[in-house]
Amino acid sequence: MSNRHFNGLTPAEAERLAILAEECGEAVQIIGKILRHGYRSYHPDDPNGPDNRAMLVKELGDVHCVMDLMAELGDFNGADVHRRSREKRLRLQHYTHHQDFPEVVNG
Ligand SMILES: [Mg+2]
Repeated sequence: MSNRHFNGLTPAEAERLAILAEECGEAVQIIGKILRHGYRSYHPDDPNGPDNRAMLVKELGDVHCVMDLMAELGDFNGADVHRRSREKRLRLQHYTHHQDFPEVVNG
């Protein structure tokens, strides 16, 4: 019987995926708060704390950080992510109802 995990991940790869999942979950949570209460709302127990817009920036930055780290450590090719991002933007231009897309500058 092998000591290797059935999914073939190293402990470091598994940890990075766990962190990515956690940060994506935190981003989804604040998106839900914004949809329910708005960008300017804040936690009622902390009226001087960050509002939901600031919390969204924080959590998206956390996701971006983990993505950068994973690309740097070879979990995936960061250029592939950028290529996919451009493709997604083109698709969104055709399939959204309320967006006014700014011109892409040499994306
Ligand atoms: Mg976070």
